[in-house]
Amino acid sequence: RMAGAVAAVRNIRNPVELAYAVMTQSDHVMLQGRGAEEFAKLHGIKTEPDEYFYSDFRYRQWEKMKNSHGTALDHDVQLTDKKFGTVGAVALDQHGHLAAATSTGGMTNKQYGRIGDSPIIGAGTYANDATCAISCTGHGEPFIRAIAAYDVSCLMEYKGHSLEEAMNIVVHDKLMKIDGEGGMIGVDAKGNTAMVFNSEGMYRGMRHSDGRAEIAVYKTE
Ligand code: ASP
Repeated sequence: RMAGAVAAVRNIRNPVELAYAVMTQSDHVMLQGRGAEEFAKLHGIKTEPDEYFYSDFRYRQWEKMKNSHGTALDHDVQLTDKKFGTVGAVALDQHGHLAAATSTGGMTNKQYGRIGDSPIIGAGTYANDATCAISCTGHGEPFIRAIAAYDVSCLMEYKGHSLEEAMNIVVHDKLMKIDGEGGMIGVDAKGNTAMVFNSEGMYRGMRHSDGRAEIAVYKTE
């Protein structure tokens, strides 16, 4: 249950690295904006100029949407057109420690200043050695309202559900009821993994130390 997060940062090459520094080198859990950037400088976190983050695909997507009130998710567009967006990872190490990380540019055409679920511990990202590590992707607002990642942990801890059962309840029932489109990846303290989504697809992959491996985009059954 150690945690670190940053939000509304610019020019940070790897925001997860900065979030890790917040977790390990500060007394805080979450830093945002200029304060987070100052903290990054102090701790030698790598930065890049604006151009480094430019994506023609995202720019064109935003151009199409800028005069509308709508927002777009990775999942709203033809998945084959899209090779990057929100990235999440979960892991169990040989000592039984669980970790989760999520990094995102957020939704296209969002209100300036909007923060999604990804950096909110318990909503888009959560890890607890006693239960599971979860990283989410999708329409952030419902994931925040549902406290989605933590809810998976709660269903395991308080109701005795398996990781997969808990993720299915959150993704296919609780999130669906509040129009929460998206999905999540998870690993539990025994090394069970699950990748569950209610969107058309979710780029995903997993690898076990015993050699089992899986990669997929759309539903497999
Ligand atoms: N969950 C992210 C957000 O709402 C977006 C995404 O996962 O694509 O900012």
